[in-house]
Amino acid sequence: MYVVMIASECAPVAKVGGLGDVVFGLCRELEIRGNAVEIILPKYDCLRYDKIHDLQLAAKDLWVPWYDSSVHCSVYFGFVQGRKCFFIEPHSDRNFFNRRLFYGQEDDDQRFAFFSRASLEFLFRSNKHPDVIHCHDWQTALVPVLLYEIYEQAGMTQPRVCFTLHNLYHQGVTREHILRATGLNRHGYFFHPDRLQDNFNRGAINLMKGGIVYSNFVTTVSPRYAWEMLHADQSFGLGHTLQLHRHKIGGVLNGLDYDVWNPEADPHIPCPYGVATLDNKYENKRALRQRFWLRDVFRPIVCYIGRLDHQKGVPLITHAIHYCLQHGCQFVLLGTSPDPKVAQHFQGLKQHYNDNPDCHLELSFNEEISHLIYAGADMIVVPSLFEPCGLTQLIGLRYGTVPIVRATGGLMDTVFDANHSNKPYHERTGYVFNDFNPQGIESALERAIGLWSNFPQHFRELMINGMRSDFSWNHPGQHYVNVYERIRAK
Ligand code: ADP
Repeated sequence: MYVVMIASECAPVAKVGGLGDVVFGLCRELEIRGNAVEIILPKYDCLRYDKIHDLQLAAKDLWVPWYDSSVHCSVYFGFVQGRKCFFIEPHSDRNFFNRRLFYGQEDDDQRFAFFSRASLEFLFRSNKHPDVIHCHDWQTALVPVLLYEIYEQAGMTQPRVCFTLHNLYHQGVTREHILRATGLNRHGYFFHPDRLQDNFNRGAINLMKGGIVYSNFVTTVSPRYAWEMLHADQSFGLGHTLQLHRHKIGGVLNGLDYDVWNPEADPHIPCPYGVATLDNKYENKRALRQRFWLRDVFRPIVCYIGRLDHQKGVPLITHAIHYCLQHGCQFVLLGTSPDPKVAQHFQGLKQHYNDNPDCHLELSFNEEISHLIYAGADMIVVPSLFEPCGLTQLIGLRYGTVPIVRATGGLMDTVFDANHSNKPYHERTGYVFNDFNPQGIESALERAIGLWSNFPQHFRELMINGMRSDFSWNHPGQHYVNVYERIRAK
């Protein structure tokens, strides 16, 4: 099969969160299974250019229709750890992708609508006819709309579209100008409840909704989140649309790229380790302490790695820091926040604990350091308010870093409570709590810290259970191939 992935992120060149990991990992798995895969990304100025090989011009004169005129673009080609990637660079004074960051601009709707149109124009002009186009989240949700309404009529009849919802919280709710900009000119037709009109704000269009309506199949990133989205108030206003289209919706649990995340061969950690050499993990713990000037004492290190925002449970992350420090643990946090208020909150905490030899808050995005923390910490907290899948707990499991998670979305599909799960003992891998409040997270932290302190052998078993569990791309890879085959057959 020939698959083209159109996305706003791909690790490690353009990664903000899990989306980047998933795009890369899935493409790799699809290639291993014998499919031809190409990825199309914006040519951001902040790409990790050091991770792109043989970058060269692939098309120098791509003219992309935009409002009543066209924008001149160049398309580059390069390899990202073996994956074939095209990068679209518009030459216009809007400088869509020269902002030194990926998201968070006022005109994000236009930036990514343009990217969606440009990606299809590129496929069309270069006579590429993929069997499947796979796009992701609101940023590329216009792809199926444009394909069906414009490019199919121009002769692109081959591709079917799979659309993956990584996070329904961000939907790309915008105004009618996006329709005009992208050539979807029949205002009354598109501004319709069956198509792109937002379900609540009748004056707005909703790009995510368009993606759901127009795709041949819609996946989300865990079975539990698929269920929550359809039945448990996690649809953020798209419930009606999802219900209408439920026959073509399914949950496919994200995989983890076990080549990138492998404690036995991780170039970013000082001492490789595996189940048989678990004691070597403690060399990494020592290195982590040295890196962050933590004292070398007999205490567990609890960590948090991830975006610092509403979804991730800011009050519970904060509570976990205080609680752990008061209960004989060290705490390491790695994260950034696009929200100035949240950023300020963590800056304040960092200052507060500045002289504490048991605490370090690293308020930056740093892929390399994240590997050292996963390897060096004993436990990782993921107290999300909602979590479509979550990757940090999966990486924690792989690195023998016991996850402590809230029972929501993909966290429920991947972590099984040491005391309360109905799984057999050898499949129990961490701690799970229900209530989104301090008592909730304390109930899990207390049990985890208690086991580490009083029953180290049992704690070690929990670590090993996690390291042995399989969240590789093997199963989800097959699942996606099945989805692709199903939509191709129609
Ligand atoms: P999200 O909701 O952000 O997609 P996930 O848990 O699915 O959350 O994925 C987060 C990914 O981003 C993981 O690979 C995690 O290690 C990485 N990550 C998040 N924040 C940082 C950071 N500040 N520095 C390095 N890596 C980070």
